[in-house]
Amino acid sequence: MPEKQKAYGREISIEGTLGEVNIYGQIDFVVLLWENDEPKLRLVESKASRKDRTYYQVQICLYRMLVCQLIGENYLNISGIKFQPENIECVVVRIDENTNKIQDIIKSPALNLDTIEADINRLVASDGVLKWIIETDLSDLDYQLGRKCSDCLLSFHCLAESAREKRLELLGINSSIVRILHKAGVNNLDDLSELDLEGNQATEIKKDISFTDNLELLKLKAKTRRRTLPDGDSNPDTYEVEALPKYSG
Ligand code: SF4
Repeated sequence: MPEKQKAYGREISIEGTLGEVNIYGQIDFVVLLWENDEPKLRLVESKASRKDRTYYQVQICLYRMLVCQLIGENYLNISGIKFQPENIECVVVRIDENTNKIQDIIKSPALNLDTIEADINRLVASDGVLKWIIETDLSDLDYQLGRKCSDCLLSFHCLAESAREKRLELLGINSSIVRILHKAGVNNLDDLSELDLEGNQATEIKKDISFTDNLELLKLKAKTRRRTLPDGDSNPDTYEVEALPKYSG
């Protein structure tokens, strides 16, 4: 390459292992710039979105970690100058709310990803949460269904499996409440909708100090929710219409 020439590449594939996890992806743009006679790499992730999301920053931070790892393992020389990993910077560009235009990939300020990188290192460590999740049976994992699920790539699994197993998570309750219900032998929507509110199971649930929900309301929600499920007790092809008493005025 001619001396100190700027350059860029698009859709750069990258793969590597961080801690216990193998990661691959495609960096939208890698731009080679020069600053004080030193080469600088700008990694750019571009999003067709107006919202700034943390997981966009996690994605670009993962790419930076992989690029740093590659540079650490392979000497990188650009126009005769040894490349320093600290000369990598990252940006996420998205649609600007004010102008409705995509943000500038060169002028956008570089992100400070130190906290995110520390979190990723903890997540992918040999005693980290990701390894534990990978090794745990899916049905034993805690999760909470909510608004965030509509944007999640895994919703086809979480929602469909929850429905198939009539899981308590379909009520959107948090995992600590699910655990308390399980401990009392209330394992799915069928159990909860048939729960005797004066019985021993209900007493056991209510006396747990971590149980902060309203059991009567939960039972009602469970009854309603299970009616909409496959092999629930309502017919999806019909409307339930109750006959009104005949008017005799
Ligand atoms: S769909 Fe599943 S994995 Fe995705 S956010 Fe919801 S609970 Fe989490």
